[in-house]
Amino acid sequence: MLNKKSITDIDVAGKKVLVRCDFNVPVKDGVITDDNRIVGALPTIRYLVDHNARVILCSHLGRPKGTFNLKYTLAPVAEKLGEYLGKKVELASDVIGEDAHAKAASLKDGDVMLLENVRFHAEEEANDPEFSKALASLAEIYVNDAFGTAHRAHASTAGVADYLPAVCGFLIQKEIDVMGKALDDPDRPFVAILGGAKVADKLSVIENLLSKVDILIIGGGMAYTFLAAQGKKTGTSLLDESKIEYCADMLKKAEEKGVKLLLPVDTVVSPVFPEPIDGPVEVETVCSCCIPDDKMGLDIGEKTRELFANAVKGAKTVVWNGPMGVFENPTLAKGTIAVAQALADSDAVTIVGGGDSAAAVQQLGFASKITHISTGGGASLEFLEGKQLPGITCLNDK
Ligand code: AMP
Repeated sequence: MLNKKSITDIDVAGKKVLVRCDFNVPVKDGVITDDNRIVGALPTIRYLVDHNARVILCSHLGRPKGTFNLKYTLAPVAEKLGEYLGKKVELASDVIGEDAHAKAASLKDGDVMLLENVRFHAEEEANDPEFSKALASLAEIYVNDAFGTAHRAHASTAGVADYLPAVCGFLIQKEIDVMGKALDDPDRPFVAILGGAKVADKLSVIENLLSKVDILIIGGGMAYTFLAAQGKKTGTSLLDESKIEYCADMLKKAEEKGVKLLLPVDTVVSPVFPEPIDGPVEVETVCSCCIPDDKMGLDIGEKTRELFANAVKGAKTVVWNGPMGVFENPTLAKGTIAVAQALADSDAVTIVGGGDSAAAVQQLGFASKITHISTGGGASLEFLEGKQLPGITCLNDK
């Protein structure tokens, strides 16, 4: 079980604290179009302000590819943070340069500043030790609160921890606590639901979860390779021929371990993939045992929705990652909505991995009924794979 120090385990008063946040927000014409990530970072920042730290925030935004490019400036973030915190957040015009040092030196207790986009330096993604050292020289303590980049070993997400005491903020703390407990010591029955387009993307997740869960539910495009492994006809549905044997192995492994593996029993099919993706589509529901040769499965059918929802109803812990169908299309979103609804109605510990499933839960207005919505798509997948995340491993143990 991960047992990392957090900001509540150290004394931050009067100290310069470098905080890696995930401020990678969408910006259009200088205006932030979704500020969820900024709002998510506020508890950690407010705690540090209230405890008289001198707060130096840093983040990446977009892909400036290692050069200064004001298209990717964090200026809109500094302004938005200032509004939320009710105090000025100074933006340094550089990352480790003169202005950053001057502004850091003039911070008073409870002040907050923001460095420019760390990816203006190619050394950031290269995890260059000299760059990490330069970042570290701005502060006395390092806090990582950017779960979305915790699976990357970059200078500001991991390297800097070699030179400063390193702890997590509240966002990462919650990810570790909730997801760590689900994987190490879950309340049972433990049900995992996996969806999304490709089996290949989730091979290690499937394998790791099979050794932890009581029920594994597979939906979405990845289900057809499993159905094919059972000898079923999948029509023109998404199919990864090279992974049929892997899926057959997983079916066998599930049986050996006594894990119930649930696959779709009925499927919503169409002759063609909708074009545009949210355009009109002609559908019918067929048995998943024999999808017609000229049809493709694009969502789970009604019986499957019920089957999956019932499995969730009996669970004490539920982890969900990936949509059940082409949810971008309203006609093909019913399976994904049904799973989101089942999680929202459940009293279990419910965890939604980042990415599409998190967006679906948010759009449907169910977010407040979910125990934990992970703030990192890629990072939460790697966590579920049982991998060590560099941005977490680098932090000091309690
Ligand atoms: P992922 O990025 O692997 O989580 O996959 C998400 C994508 O999977 C979404 O864009 C869905 O439209 C797509 N998807 C889900 N089910 C299907 C399906 N049955 N056929 C094709 N694409 C699907």
